[in-house]
Amino acid sequence: MAFLPFYVPASGPIKVAIVGGGYAALAALVSLHRFSPYTGVTLIDPNDAHIKVTHLHETFRRRLREFVVPFEKIEQRFNCRHVRAAVEITDENLMEWQEHRGLAVGDEFIDFDYLLVAIGSGTPRLDQGDAIYDLRDFMIAEGSSLMQQVPIDGDAFLTVVGGGATGIQFLFEIAEFVRVHKLPFRIRLVDGEDTVLKQFTPALGRYVESRLSDAGIEHLPRTFYRKQEGGQVRLENRDTGDVMELNSSAAFLFPGKASDPLLNTTFFGQVVAGGRVLDRVFAAGDCSHHRGVGSNTVTAQAAVRKGKLAARNILRSSGRLKVLEPYLHRDLGDVVSLGPNDAIGWLGLEGNIVAGVPALVVKELVEAQYDLLMAGIDTYLI
Ligand SMILES: Cc1cc2nc3c(=O)[nH]c(=O)nc-3n(C[C@H](O)[C@H](O)[C@H](O)COP(=O)(O)OP(=O)(O)OC[C@H]3O[C@@H](n4cnc5c(N)ncnc54)[C@H](O)[C@@H]3O)c2cc1C
Repeated sequence: MAFLPFYVPASGPIKVAIVGGGYAALAALVSLHRFSPYTGVTLIDPNDAHIKVTHLHETFRRRLREFVVPFEKIEQRFNCRHVRAAVEITDENLMEWQEHRGLAVGDEFIDFDYLLVAIGSGTPRLDQGDAIYDLRDFMIAEGSSLMQQVPIDGDAFLTVVGGGATGIQFLFEIAEFVRVHKLPFRIRLVDGEDTVLKQFTPALGRYVESRLSDAGIEHLPRTFYRKQEGGQVRLENRDTGDVMELNSSAAFLFPGKASDPLLNTTFFGQVVAGGRVLDRVFAAGDCSHHRGVGSNTVTAQAAVRKGKLAARNILRSSGRLKVLEPYLHRDLGDVVSLGPNDAIGWLGLEGNIVAGVPALVVKELVEAQYDLLMAGIDTYLI
């Protein structure tokens, strides 16, 4: 059993219920298993498998199954139990669960000493219908097979909506797929902002815009998506409100994450609900906003750090000393891939920009580090 500073177990193993089965949840699970292998963990998630969503855009050239880890395997590897269910998270529910030290899921009452909520931030559904795809579709089908459903008409365009990191990563994979398979599609990017990758330092956006131009991708900034129907996409100019109808065989929608994080926490990751701190309920990942100087970006790296911290603080809180650790993680960098052969991002400091093969290597290293964690090998320094 690995040593955890300030953790002196008080009694027998504790019970932890984790709602969610994404990056934050699994990072917490691995840490609990590492520091206290007999912790009784129940993982509650509506799906059958953990999906490594940071790879989904790669399914235009790789198999989806490479990025799917069945919860059955996770149960065996980390000695936990998976319950297939979606749980409604509200302040009232959380306060009730804290009081009763348990929650009802279907016919079962799951009792716990500590609860961790890590349900991500969800993705708003912009539109649904034929030839409209969003992240949910990529969780069940490969990009390459979705492309086979797209009708090929004359003067065919594919419309990608969203100039944030996710939209850009999908855009360049789609462009590469079209190029490699010699498909007769042209590609357009529609984005409500005036530049792409708005959340990063402007140099990253400028690099991407030069790549868009090199690849012959049409870029419509300051433009809102309204509808895809009958081989046409309806768009609206953000400034003038003018509506235009353009040829479009399919629309790929990546509008970004849902608005505000669901839960506010203390410095230590405990949920604040109904004006009080719930000392038995922790939150981690995209659904949480931690108080203090630590990073609250909606990224896998922040989710993993919050999940690990929650696990350490749950154990310490259950122990004799009860000295908890504040959330201090600062992002170490971020890289956005631009197809299989290029990427752009920053490393160490936001002004320290990396592009091309070095950036791709950094991204691969980060992904490999997470794969090691899933194998139970924790190489994160913090
Ligand atoms: C295509 C793509 C590429 C990305 N690339 C990167 C990258 O390169 N680097 C990076 O740092 N970040 C990246 N991100 C962002 C990163 O994936 C997220 O920040 C990360 O997944 C957040 O982890 P999480 O655990 O909070 O939530 P998630 O990983 O979204 O997991 C949430 C889990 O909760 C479950 N759940 C949801 N609602 C309920 C409920 N009501 N009850 C029970 N369970 C529920 C879901 O089924 C899911 O398993 C990318 C995202 C996408 C979509």
